[in-house]
Amino acid sequence: MVLIVVEAVSKLQHPAPVAGWSVVLIAGAGVVVNGATALMFGRGHKDLNVRGAFLHMAADAGVSVAVVVAGIVMMVTGWRWVDPVASLIVAGAVLGLTWGLLRDATNMALAAVPRSVNAERVEEVIARCPSVVSYHDLHIWAISTSDTALTVHVRRNTHEHNDAFLDELAASIREQCGITHITIQVEYGNNDGDNAY
Ligand SMILES: [Zn+2]
Repeated sequence: MVLIVVEAVSKLQHPAPVAGWSVVLIAGAGVVVNGATALMFGRGHKDLNVRGAFLHMAADAGVSVAVVVAGIVMMVTGWRWVDPVASLIVAGAVLGLTWGLLRDATNMALAAVPRSVNAERVEEVIARCPSVVSYHDLHIWAISTSDTALTVHVRRNTHEHNDAFLDELAASIREQCGITHITIQVEYGNNDGDNAY
């Protein structure tokens, strides 16, 4: 990215000779190949690695499109500043696309709640259970780029149907919140979690 910007600025100061139609044709082929590959990976995939691959191919296709457009405009008009300006626009676009990927990777490294999970929704699902008095130590974190884990301590007002309670709560969290690895610890008693362990 830095190299593209440096190159573009130096070209703005010292315009290079205009490239021929062959460059436009080669870049045109690049648009088709990179565009088709990017479409194969698909946009908005959950897995960070697949999204990284998509962004890479989409960026390559974008660079090729910029080369084609800049080349044609330069040859038709003779405006040599078009090439470096197009380079700067592409550099900005790639930086913007990469930002989201960087944020997700940082979130995962910091064990933050993944963007795909709505923590408030999880709390609603737990609190909605009739026998749940309170809950604490709720943790949600990514264990891979597409799997999320949850642990929680819930305090119940009864010993009744404990296995069924665990099954139902885990199924609700899995289905309604998209969390795949769930660990629930059940506790009893009347205190409200002030001296919880
Ligand atoms: Zn506890």
